[in-house]
Amino acid sequence: MSALVTYQNYVHGQYISNGSGETFEVINPATGSVSYLVEVATDAVKQAAIDSAKAGFAVWSKMTPMERSRILLKAVALLREHNDELAAGEVLDTGKPWQEASVVDIVTGADSIEFFAGLAPSIEGNQQPVGEDFYYTRREPLGICAGIGAWNYPLQIACWKAAPALACGNVMIFKPSEETPRGAMRLAEIFTQAGVPDGVFNVVQGDGRVGAWLTTNDDIAKVSFTGEVGTGTKVMAAASSTLKEVTMELGGKSPLIIFNDADVDNAVSAAMLANFYTQGEVCTNGTRVFVQKDMYPQFIERLKQRTENNIVCGDPMDAETNFGALISRSHQQKVLEYIAIGQKEGATLLTGGTALQPENAPHGFFVAPTIFTDCTDDMTIAKEEIFGPVMSVFTFEDEQEVIQRANNTHLGLAAGVFTQDITRAHRVIHQLEAGICWINAYGASPAEMPVGGYKMSGIGRENGNETLKAYTQIKAVYVGMQPLESPF
Ligand code: NAD
Repeated sequence: MSALVTYQNYVHGQYISNGSGETFEVINPATGSVSYLVEVATDAVKQAAIDSAKAGFAVWSKMTPMERSRILLKAVALLREHNDELAAGEVLDTGKPWQEASVVDIVTGADSIEFFAGLAPSIEGNQQPVGEDFYYTRREPLGICAGIGAWNYPLQIACWKAAPALACGNVMIFKPSEETPRGAMRLAEIFTQAGVPDGVFNVVQGDGRVGAWLTTNDDIAKVSFTGEVGTGTKVMAAASSTLKEVTMELGGKSPLIIFNDADVDNAVSAAMLANFYTQGEVCTNGTRVFVQKDMYPQFIERLKQRTENNIVCGDPMDAETNFGALISRSHQQKVLEYIAIGQKEGATLLTGGTALQPENAPHGFFVAPTIFTDCTDDMTIAKEEIFGPVMSVFTFEDEQEVIQRANNTHLGLAAGVFTQDITRAHRVIHQLEAGICWINAYGASPAEMPVGGYKMSGIGRENGNETLKAYTQIKAVYVGMQPLESPF
């Protein structure tokens, strides 16, 4: 144990001691053993983070957007330069395959910072005459923003939150998930190296208690949260006590709809991507796969065959592995319980359904890629977010029926439609209650495209032009051009 590295909280451009020495352990999901320790943010660290953020804001918000942009672009270059090292860190923390992390996690994080760095200098106000007088508007930063992250894309989430916040002249105090605290610390180091002033991006460590502190602190203007719906509602309620702005990126139970005329191989690829990528731990997963009746037999045959033959589960750092470990033992148990409930409620287990012990990672938290057929809309597995590699397949007859069933959920994060009929594709997508939609595609999320949920899946958006508005506030300035009339 004594050989383990202990990380501290990152405040004002450096790691600082928490004074108490209290730490928590971070487990490698692929081995089950402790990777490193992290100091919990104590009251002293929290106060230092706030003081530092205030000082950082005074410097950063005064810089021109072009200056901020240039610095952020240096961070983008550093992220890309360190891609492999950073990706390896994400693999060790999350259990996801190197195959994915090395080409997606850091790349998409850097893309978002690059996108917003490019937009920063284009933020402008307007001017409107009112007779001889006029008014003008300024888009000003909010101040200190809090970012609270989930564990599935730790570094990417930190980038997606920091990018618009910093580009608009705000500063951020970020709390990563206690299960994956490393990525945000590395991002903070890179920001410092790139020339981001001290205090502009601080990282505080700990569990929900540290998160809860961020949601009630008077000095924090906004909370951007990624996590479960249940936590999101708590965060929003807490933030309301000081009227903080919120962005909520929450869970989903998204439909993937496959019509008879779809290309069957593409549709199977989509269903597998939408359920087995990052071993099913993706918020936008299309876990309810609706297949039109005539397509069903060939779809299910190829789906089973490809799932059983093409998935390589094992040590996530192995170049061949395309399916990794779940985040923790407790999450593995939760996913297995959902599988047991699915069977109990009458769904047919087509494949998978068990924990796995691959030879090269026998102690990891693996669950086999699992497919249920004969599912009905009222089953627990059809209604609740499982956040693991569990696909439920349904059949449907016609368009109106599937739209109604797809929308029959309190969640609305994502949706996908596969068909060769272009008018039907758009007609169906326009009726689906979801914020992130794909036609003949699934999962792609470029920085230019806004993402976020309808209904209980969230509030606000990340990425895309839209997000600039969520990190600025408008100041309207009325200018009198003549002597002031007054009744007094
Ligand atoms: P979680 O809600 O358990 O935790 C998320 C974060 O909130 C963690 O950092 C945690 O420490 C913190 N937290 C816990 N209680 C808190 C409180 N009372 N106040 C403030 N912060 C608190 O979620 P998770 O298990 O880490 O992540 C999985 C969930 O995240 C899934 O539901 C998934 O769908 C969702 N998710 C959504 C998106 C999206 O963009 N919509 C992206 C990734 C993950």
